[in-house]
Amino acid sequence: MATIAWIGLGNMGSRMTRHLIDAGHSVFGVDPNEAAMAQAVAVGVTPAASVAAAVANADAVITMLPKGEHVRAVYDGPDGIWANAKQGAVLFDSSTVDLDTSGWCHTGSQERGIAFVDAPVSGGTAGAADGTLAFMLGGDAAAVERVRELIAPMAGNIFATGGPTTGIAAKIANNMMLFIAQQACAEGSQLAEQLGLDAQVFWDVVTASSGNSWPQQTWYPVPGIVERAAANQNFDATFSADLARKDIGLAVQAGADRGVALPGAQAAMAQLDRLIAEGLGHKDCSLVVKYSSPDGKVAGYDPEFDTQTEGVSR
Ligand code: NAD
Repeated sequence: MATIAWIGLGNMGSRMTRHLIDAGHSVFGVDPNEAAMAQAVAVGVTPAASVAAAVANADAVITMLPKGEHVRAVYDGPDGIWANAKQGAVLFDSSTVDLDTSGWCHTGSQERGIAFVDAPVSGGTAGAADGTLAFMLGGDAAAVERVRELIAPMAGNIFATGGPTTGIAAKIANNMMLFIAQQACAEGSQLAEQLGLDAQVFWDVVTASSGNSWPQQTWYPVPGIVERAAANQNFDATFSADLARKDIGLAVQAGADRGVALPGAQAAMAQLDRLIAEGLGHKDCSLVVKYSSPDGKVAGYDPEFDTQTEGVSR
């Protein structure tokens, strides 16, 4: 059984670690957010005093952090992962980051003779809780095989996507499709309501029809339809608007760099920007539904009962 360091125990990390612990691994975790840390401790994670302390004896180091800047901050410097990882450890990043940050992790690891794999995931907090995430692994084949074994308890599907940064490339393109489809759910749900349809009946129709999609099945933005959707918990984040905007922005930037026209992604991104401009970046990304409602109000969302604090998605 392996000793694993886990850096970043938020919505995803706190749920994913449980499967490693159930599989018999020892997990040492770090997260400056006390609520996140407490949730992880409840599933068996041992709190570590620092990144350096967590990684010192770890066979594998996993980062599950909001953005590229957070990943760079924990890898670099005298207290970081590179300076403190033990000889022979494998490092992998499951955060969704920009291609440059992922390339930087590969290059910096290679220069130090440490194995690194980009290992982003898809499947949301439900997939994290159920151990059914899809992992996309980019990097050297031998390192990918080591990571494949470790992540098995958290995974429903594991794809070796090719060389360095191909995992993150797959993830960015996938998530762009996700947030365009989420925008479609927002618009469809509100149009159906205004046309007099019962929400459950409409959802059942779509489930059996061509409007069916992953966000329609998992994040449908109307309460009482999909059990674990944010619409049932006042749109508290399962996937924050901040992080969704980050992801779709990565796709839009990659498209601009390579001459790919992405008008659908830009339209979906603009709706997320509206939420963030309103100070709602910490709420669930599916709250974009309110911009499709004729009066801006939607069932399941009461701004008076906002249990979350401003900031990155907790
Ligand atoms: P989150 O914001 O809920 O959790 C991130 C955690 O990282 C927070 O608890 C934060 O306190 C912690 N953190 C920040 N800086 C840190 C540091 N220096 N050291 C240790 N911990 C630190 O985000 P999340 O929803 O868990 O997502 C994590 C990553 O996974 C993001 O890149 C996101 O885009 C991606 N992702 C999210 C989902 C989802 O459905 N939420 C699905 C797939 C991928």
